[in-house]
Amino acid sequence: VTIPLTELEKLQVLGHGNGGTVYKVQHKRTSQIYALKVVHGHGDLTAHRQVSREKEILRRTDSAHIVRCYGTYDNPSGDVSILMEYMDAGTLDTLLRNHGTFSEPELAHITRQILKGLSYLHAHKIIHRDLKPSNLLVNKKMEVKIADFGVSKIMCRTLDACNSYVGTCAYMSPERFDPDAYGGNYNGYLGDIWSLGLTLMELYMGHFPFLPPGQRPDWATLMCAICFGDPPALPSGVSDEFRSFINCCLQKESKKRWTASQLLDHPFLLRHPTSNR
Ligand code: ATP
Ligand code: MG
Repeated sequence: VTIPLTELEKLQVLGHGNGGTVYKVQHKRTSQIYALKVVHGHGDLTAHRQVSREKEILRRTDSAHIVRCYGTYDNPSGDVSILMEYMDAGTLDTLLRNHGTFSEPELAHITRQILKGLSYLHAHKIIHRDLKPSNLLVNKKMEVKIADFGVSKIMCRTLDACNSYVGTCAYMSPERFDPDAYGGNYNGYLGDIWSLGLTLMELYMGHFPFLPPGQRPDWATLMCAICFGDPPALPSGVSDEFRSFINCCLQKESKKRWTASQLLDHPFLLRHPTSNR
């Protein structure tokens, strides 16, 4: 049974996104806290299309590593709202800014959870297409969950091309820019693996790996670096296993990248086994 919107009280704004706002809300009767994403109907068409997509995907996913959806709402004026579980430690992006970079054991713990989420999505024919630190939610139990399915794609045919320019350009894989050169139509799911590799490098190094610390992206230069340059490299001092893991994600040729389920058995994760689950 879905909680009626009228029983939810807005407590604060958690974040603004594409045409919408995410609120921290409380169910008055049970005091339970949730997150509510609201996109207004009179906003732009893109935002509306994205939230409809997200609604469709969240309603069909059921995984400990995908943000839980407890209900969706459409009102006559066209507003769309999504009631989600509240993740009380924010995003990996805010954690990185506020608490600094992550150690290898911490990253192994984070990586395993993202990979479980990705292998669930990919098994259900969903490509996220916008994986990055600010779309990975965290709670105080250090559970990591994938969120923000606004530009995700549900694959109908296995050979569906998925090279359109959606998502955050910086984290997009080479085959999304140049499918012919990098095997873009081979397996669209592997674009998420590239984004995972960049995300983990950023969490380790503290800055977006294609750019020096503090530098603002210039899109043309960045796109050239992604397509024509070598993949970014980790600094010295990291373990061989972590270096190898990143290498398996950041293969420019998509065919050579490992899948999410293959990466779950990578030595980097075997070296840091989960203690409590
Ligand atoms: P952006 O374009 O910045 O990625 P968006 O429109 O895609 O935004 P989301 O990424 O889903 O929207 O949410 C925006 C922000 O709201 C997130 O970065 C996060 O800080 C916060 N947020 C979203 N969902 C939750 C949640 N379930 N629990 C806690 N915070 C959340
Ligand atoms: Mg987002």
